[in-house]
Amino acid sequence: MEIAFLASEVEPFAKTGGLADVARSLPAALAARGIEVNVFMPLYGFVKRKKYTIRRKLKVSRIGRALTGGAGPQFSIYGVRKNNVNFFFIENDRYFGRSGIYGSPRGEYRDNAARFIFFQKAVIAAMASLNIKADILHLNDWHTALVPRFASSSVFSNVPTVLTIHNLAYQGIYGAEYSRLAGLKKEELFKKNVNFLAYGIKTADAVTTVSPTYAREIKTKKFGCGLENILKKRGNSLYGILNGLDYSSWSPKNDAALPASYTAADLKGKKICKTRLLASLGIKNTGALLAGFVGRFTPQKGIDIIIPAVERSIRKDIQFVFLGDGDVSFEASLKKLEKKFPGRISVNGGFNDILAHRIYASSDIFLMPSEFEPCGLAQMIALSYGSIPVVNPTGGLKDTVEEYSPKSGAGWGFLMKKHSASSLAAAMRRALECYALTGKWEKLVKKAMRISFSWDGPAKKYIALYKRLLIAKRGKRGRLYA
Ligand code: ADP
Repeated sequence: MEIAFLASEVEPFAKTGGLADVARSLPAALAARGIEVNVFMPLYGFVKRKKYTIRRKLKVSRIGRALTGGAGPQFSIYGVRKNNVNFFFIENDRYFGRSGIYGSPRGEYRDNAARFIFFQKAVIAAMASLNIKADILHLNDWHTALVPRFASSSVFSNVPTVLTIHNLAYQGIYGAEYSRLAGLKKEELFKKNVNFLAYGIKTADAVTTVSPTYAREIKTKKFGCGLENILKKRGNSLYGILNGLDYSSWSPKNDAALPASYTAADLKGKKICKTRLLASLGIKNTGALLAGFVGRFTPQKGIDIIIPAVERSIRKDIQFVFLGDGDVSFEASLKKLEKKFPGRISVNGGFNDILAHRIYASSDIFLMPSEFEPCGLAQMIALSYGSIPVVNPTGGLKDTVEEYSPKSGAGWGFLMKKHSASSLAAAMRRALECYALTGKWEKLVKKAMRISFSWDGPAKKYIALYKRLLIAKRGKRGRLYA
């Protein structure tokens, strides 16, 4: 079976969040099960071509008339094969030769609609010019959700499409003036707008999202972001498949970013990581419980309730370290707290992969009080590093974290009763009480580190879904395209 897998960000080439982790690790898990996967992404200006030996495969390709109505813009195709997966990159400097994926610190790029329409058309054209076959087109998030439209005017018109929603809050909504570029008729607009994700949800052969709980939640008004009705209509062709974690990238046993390695059997290295991290941040290691946060500074991640909860919880026996990219006003509020409570809080802005690894390893608890959470990888990573998650049980957090009971030893996290600053403060207090029970805490850390969210089960589910779609579309034999 051959899969074309399209994503706007793929680790290690370009990353802002969990989508990039999944776009690297799911194709690898599929390839390990004998599937040929061709991953497509834009070649952004900052992608390190030399470091990853990304080479040009085709100098000039062009989007055909069927998709543009005229001579379309040109692009080049680059590629590299890594761990049995082919990665292809669409190069067009006008659209992608920039230092950001979606925008700059000043805001979103204003031509994102045109950029990602171009990307999707270019992938269809690139597959045709490189003679790449596909049994399934696997699309990810709004940036690729118009592919059912573009594929329909190509040799891939019969190929089943799977759209995976990693975050329903980002839909790609643009004015009706983009209809022509997007190839959408008036009746294909959503609430009078071009809505990339809504179009994909309506037209993909199957829609998946990244946890069973989120798959249920998004059919409600509270979580549906206005798309709940079209999601409900998909009925049985909307699936929730929990993301896996790639333990070859996220394990303290073998992590080049850490000053010391450690395992559940021997936790000494974890202490070294903590001392070294705090020293590098100019904070004294007092032996207090260290609470970590790595994530986008957005209300989705609960950063607005973290700020009052931290202020309420600050005491001698707790310290905080934050790493986040995003809304500068949240960063500024956290910086104020850092000033107000010297030696207790460290706030780090920007995207910093090495620091992220060190925070997972050094922290004792990991804060994820998300308002909604499609899956969440950070809590899975935290568990792998023995940092106990403190979460709002929504979406994937509900599917992956269970309340710890010091009495019975059941569970491996601390759940908020509701999405509020006081519930977060209460969950942190419970964590602090347990942290004082040294023997029990160490047992909890060891247990957390042994929990596994591997790609085994999820990869099998995707493959079963691909097979069902293929059989439904073509019967048991024969390719789908000319
Ligand atoms: P989301 O995709 O909603 O941002 P996830 O928990 O699914 O959240 O995935 C976030 C991923 O991005 C994790 O791998 C996390 O370590 C990483 N990450 C988030 N923010 C940063 C940052 N500022 N610097 C480095 N890595 C980050």
